[in-house]
Amino acid sequence: FLKGKTALVTGSTSGIGLAYAKALAAEGANVVINGFGDAGAIEQERQALAAASGAGAAYSAADMTRPEEIVAMVEETARTFGGVDILINNAGVQHVAPIEEFPPEKWDAIIGINLSSAFHTIRAALPGMKARKWGRIINTASAHSLVASPFKAAYVAAKHGLAGLTKTVALEAATSGVTANCISPGYVWTPLVEKQIPDTMKARNMTREQVMNDVLLAGQPTKQFVTAEQVAALAVYLCTDGAAQVTGANLSIDGGWTAA
Ligand code: NAD
Repeated sequence: FLKGKTALVTGSTSGIGLAYAKALAAEGANVVINGFGDAGAIEQERQALAAASGAGAAYSAADMTRPEEIVAMVEETARTFGGVDILINNAGVQHVAPIEEFPPEKWDAIIGINLSSAFHTIRAALPGMKARKWGRIINTASAHSLVASPFKAAYVAAKHGLAGLTKTVALEAATSGVTANCISPGYVWTPLVEKQIPDTMKARNMTREQVMNDVLLAGQPTKQFVTAEQVAALAVYLCTDGAAQVTGANLSIDGGWTAA
């Protein structure tokens, strides 16, 4: 149902972002992926996306800490495919440290990648969406846009900021056919999470099951990970006509985390 539409997904060379790109390609959209990684592997993903959609797929190496590269990515997408109809701000990084020891340069990087990059993409993409009277802005926030955890000052601040930015954009775009929403996952099963398990098993002398239940899923009442595909399914829903009146919302997909 997305034939003829173009989706730009930041931070989509792995994890949740790649799942968004696959799900939107499966609906026939042109997709532009972005992020870091092995050039050969990225090119393979790009080709697989084009094959899956029967439409176009492109890659942008833009660094989400650099406003001029972000704007150039949006402009290049418009030149290649005619515009950005679906914008998913998903690039994100984490750093865990007590605030007294939190490196200021990590603070700046996390605010830049997790929050300011969304300001720059939206600022560049919104005029075209308004002109075409249709658009979907989807920001991957987090349970940490609603609640905090210790030692994640920059991440929690950035995600709360992203939730506020989303509401403002939703209000400004309300009469133009453009919606803006957050998707706020709890713990999602991505390669990043999977890689932490062996080290945590060793460090805490725990079994794999103990690490998953007592450490990673301690705050997630269902005791199950969210999957990247489940997060992507929510984004696909937000692109349907049925979701035209869903705007300014912060949609939790967190196994009950923020209900507790
Ligand atoms: P991931 O590490 O698998 O993916 C992050 C993506 O961002 C990668 O493609 C990476 O290359 C890209 N990226 C990092 N720095 C970049 C930069 N400067 N410029 C451009 N791209 C950059 O992580 P993920 O788990 O898929 O997370 C994706 C989003 O979901 C993030 O915003 C994260 O905060 C959010 N999130 C993740 C979880 C989880 O449990 N995994 C939970 C809630 C929210």
